[in-house]
Amino acid sequence: MQTAANLMPIPGHIDPVPVPRSFVPRSDGRIDLLGLSLTDLRMALETSQLEEKQAKLRAKQLWHWIYNRGATEFSAMTDISKTMHPWLEQRFVISRPNVVEAQVSTDGTRKWLLRSDDAQDYEMVFIPDADRGTLCVSSQVGCTLNCTFCHTGTMRLVRNLTPAEIVGQVMLARDSLGEWPSQPEGRMLTNIVMMGMGEPLYNFENVRDALKLVMDGAGLALSRRRITLSTSGVVPMMARAGAEIGVNLAVSLHAVTKEVRDEIVPLNRKYGIEELLQACADYPGTNNARRITFEYVMLKDKNDSDDDARELVRLLRKYELPAKVNLIPFNPWPGAQYECSTPERIKSFSSIVFGAGISAPVRTPRGRDIDAACGQLKTASEKKSRAQIDREAAAEADAAFV
Ligand code: SF4
Repeated sequence: MQTAANLMPIPGHIDPVPVPRSFVPRSDGRIDLLGLSLTDLRMALETSQLEEKQAKLRAKQLWHWIYNRGATEFSAMTDISKTMHPWLEQRFVISRPNVVEAQVSTDGTRKWLLRSDDAQDYEMVFIPDADRGTLCVSSQVGCTLNCTFCHTGTMRLVRNLTPAEIVGQVMLARDSLGEWPSQPEGRMLTNIVMMGMGEPLYNFENVRDALKLVMDGAGLALSRRRITLSTSGVVPMMARAGAEIGVNLAVSLHAVTKEVRDEIVPLNRKYGIEELLQACADYPGTNNARRITFEYVMLKDKNDSDDDARELVRLLRKYELPAKVNLIPFNPWPGAQYECSTPERIKSFSSIVFGAGISAPVRTPRGRDIDAACGQLKTASEKKSRAQIDREAAAEADAAFV
């Protein structure tokens, strides 16, 4: 029989009926505690036959060790009795994503290629600046949206990342920066952008659950004001993102006419520019101190004219959006059909927008020596493994002739 304790509400307005939360065991039969909320953690303990009161207490302790101290071993948990450690170890694990490759750029940018237990690769990037450090987090393996300028868009979607895999990126970055236990001051990892592989609003529940863990003041404790969720314009989910996550919003706009945006961000054919900007205007909590960021990749002779800049200003004014425009010089990848706009063109575009009183900085390319643009490391690794497969095949063929 289901009790209120082991039910979870289905998020959303349509079907609020509670359904049981199931814990999917790993191939070794153990349950991963990473990515679980405090309630789910308690339920996982109860499901393993820990008595209710004990489960409540242990869940609190475990949660603190996982998200505040960064512990991955039960033996490190000094306030949990030693006799209980083997019981926990037999049933549970606190995972981290597997690192396939880690690279550090000459400018300090760090990039990781990560692999899930079912052998799916995804990426995260850490970009340090003088006064802050931003982690760019992935939400999906691949992406369905096929933006034509984006390298990830050329990969087919394999699956959504789980809350554990999403929050796991933050945990891994903290491990690597040595930022445990969680300190309110002096961190290198100060900001998070959901701007890696995938469209976060197509993986809404998992992204929301992971970000709730990231924002919890007793754990990772990153303020919602330091987290930005970037969408290509999944209009029907934007209001829910505002209500249920409430982080800063960034929109991959990239074009101001239907014709061009239909081409470079095909989702535009479903949710047009005006509809998208209206959803931005309705997004809660925006003001001049908390502006919406509009990402705009600079593509030569495609979206970079002075007229485009003026149209951008007109649209932002029409919807009275507290906006900041991020101009991104296009970082070409092998097979890309676009070139980056010239520096003069970017400057001219930027000054028109700035001239209208809207901030329009040009993003400095980071980590170019390590393929830090989204999707590039994964592709490089796939190439490498194909080459390796070829070598192995050749070696096998050689062996057959001996
Ligand atoms: S820009 Fe974002 S939404 Fe578009 S294909 Fe790339 S990862 Fe997907």
